[in-house]
Amino acid sequence: MAIVHPADDTTDGHRRLALASPLDGSPIDELEIATSAEVDHAVEKARAAQRNWAARGVAERAKIVRRAVQIVVDRREEIVATVRAETGKPRAEALMLEIVPACDFLNYWSVHARNVLRPRRQRLHGSLRMLKKLYIEELPLGVVGVITPWNAPFVLALNPVVQALLAGNTVVLKPSEVTPRSSEWVVRVLHEAGVPEDVVQVVHGDGRTGAALVDSDIDKVCFTGSVGTGHKISAACSQRLLPCTLELGGKDAMIVCADADLERAAAGAVYLSMFNTGQVCMSTERIYVVDSVADEFIRLVTEKAAAVTYGSRDADLGPLFWDRQLDVVSRHIDDAKNKGGQVVIGGAVDAGKGLYFQPTVVVDATHEMQLMTEETFGPVVAITRVRDEAQAIEKANDSRYGLSGSVFTKDPVKARRIARQMNTGSVCHNDGAVIYGVPEAPFGGRKESGLGRVNGTDGLRGYTHAQPVLIDRWQSSASSVWYPYSEKTIRNLESMIRFGYGTKLGRWLTS
Ligand code: NAD
Repeated sequence: MAIVHPADDTTDGHRRLALASPLDGSPIDELEIATSAEVDHAVEKARAAQRNWAARGVAERAKIVRRAVQIVVDRREEIVATVRAETGKPRAEALMLEIVPACDFLNYWSVHARNVLRPRRQRLHGSLRMLKKLYIEELPLGVVGVITPWNAPFVLALNPVVQALLAGNTVVLKPSEVTPRSSEWVVRVLHEAGVPEDVVQVVHGDGRTGAALVDSDIDKVCFTGSVGTGHKISAACSQRLLPCTLELGGKDAMIVCADADLERAAAGAVYLSMFNTGQVCMSTERIYVVDSVADEFIRLVTEKAAAVTYGSRDADLGPLFWDRQLDVVSRHIDDAKNKGGQVVIGGAVDAGKGLYFQPTVVVDATHEMQLMTEETFGPVVAITRVRDEAQAIEKANDSRYGLSGSVFTKDPVKARRIARQMNTGSVCHNDGAVIYGVPEAPFGGRKESGLGRVNGTDGLRGYTHAQPVLIDRWQSSASSVWYPYSEKTIRNLESMIRFGYGTKLGRWLTS
């Protein structure tokens, strides 16, 4: 982040926030918070612009959005500089977690949206097909409010905004107050590509501004953020029957089987727990390793974690993005220590100026500890030994979260078998987290990790209303089941039931 403090309000009644660098606490920006009236005004403009935007058709919209790929490529240094100023993340992570997936999403959706969103004909079953034809139209919802977090502020704003636009909606984006300028780049890039100003807009502010957007005259909320805020948004949406997609927090488990490639599993454990300083919804937050290989796994993890560099601008591990996280991570480590967890390396806030927490490995972690039950969002590898794979699955499922998870084994068939038993939105084999960057995968959480899908065909169609249109084939002057009811109506219905469903041949013909 930036570290956020209230600043002096302006004379015209706007609240203001002061942002400071997570690297050294130096001031980087001030943010003027939009009032509720300004949020409403942005939504009004978006609504007025929506009809024309939708009328342009998906092919034309895709052509415009596609130009943004080259703009992101050309302006990547400026985007990276903004992201790094607000988050302190290493350049490699800014490129890998923000720029590369942003280009890929723009590139992918602008090609595939046409296919996913085009009107389609659905073949009907039984005798219905003799009478009717079914078409399904993917109609835009209207105005979509997109509310985003701070941990990957460019790409997590870009992906939902681009999908909503391609589907013919207009968008009002409310980015995190912790990383406002990084997300603002999304809107800037799309305007440069030719998306009209009112079709995609940004309103800045904190939770109150987000709540004002949810209460405004929008047609859908796409929210990415914490479970706590997700509950509030879900409650507000249910009052109005407003559709929402909620992409929330996680406590992802990694299962290390006895037949895993331990070198890869240990390298994965360290990386997947620590990249982006552990502040990824799909960070590996819990590791269950089968006892027979646990000693060697823990030795390798410790060796690799000890080699992770941190504390300077381009080290492997950046600072935490905001001060609140430093408190959460410290609290979880203290709680683990008090309950018998062994901190093998790290475990403390670094003494330097920035928001650095040491790369940390904890073993003998248990489900009595916050470290294994609450989202930590820090550079911590937390390891538990288990008897066998069955116990690993049982422990992995013992969580209120269900975002994603991973299985390390040399046997892909076993990986799929274990995946089927994990109550999570997605599973990766010998990897983790990367699945959000796979646009074909219908990514979304189970349990308290969320509602709805952000990617895949279902994700894109989540920004449309699938409208089935039943076309009459024969245009006869009346239907045989309309008024007036007669003996003939009853006879027709009886024979339909007896022959259509009461015989084997009938069931075959009507299926
Ligand atoms: P947060 O819930 O505090 O804030 C997210 C956004 O919601 C911000 O823009 C914030 O200003 C806004 N907001 C806060 N209160 C609001 C309210 N009452 N009504 C409307 N908007 C409100 O989350 P955060 O700390 O910014 O983000 C970190 C969390 O996001 C973590 O839990 C992480 O796991 C989760 N996350 C999930 C995914 C995913 O795809 N599942 C991706 C990234 C992050």
